[in-house]
Amino acid sequence: MRFRFCPECGSPCTERQIGDEGLIPFCDGCSRPWFEMFSTCVLSVVIGRDGRRLLIRQSYGDTARYVGVAGYMKCGETAEQAAAREIAEETGIAVSGVRLLFSAWHAPRGQLMLCFAAFAEGEALTLSGEVAEGKWFTQEEAEAAVRPGSIIAQLVKALKNL
Ligand SMILES: [Zn+2]
Repeated sequence: MRFRFCPECGSPCTERQIGDEGLIPFCDGCSRPWFEMFSTCVLSVVIGRDGRRLLIRQSYGDTARYVGVAGYMKCGETAEQAAAREIAEETGIAVSGVRLLFSAWHAPRGQLMLCFAAFAEGEALTLSGEVAEGKWFTQEEAEAAVRPGSIIAQLVKALKNL
């Protein structure tokens, strides 16, 4: 999102050259630039101790597809904390660690996706209301269960290189 008005004082922004960044919306009243804003989301596939991959179906939106555990980051937390928090909230799984594998720009929603492998401490699921089903897959089954070309498909493929 490119700012047209200052989110602090509401004045119209002007465009100002900011170093190497190019023309950036600038509030003369607050004397500061407002760089483009976007949401950062975490997307994880949980890996069980037996090596199986946990995918979920959501209870809203596209309920037919298996996806990873995703959510928005909160102010003040690290991406690793956000990934572990979302996994605990949606599946009840505690993770012993998470590893960032890559990031991807999700153009349809203008979001940066940070894609994680997460390592489960147990496999008992306690699903939130946002989750219709959680299911453990082999690597091959997981590759077949996700939508081809999607970011979750890239993430599942990347698990092979762990
Ligand atoms: Zn302002």
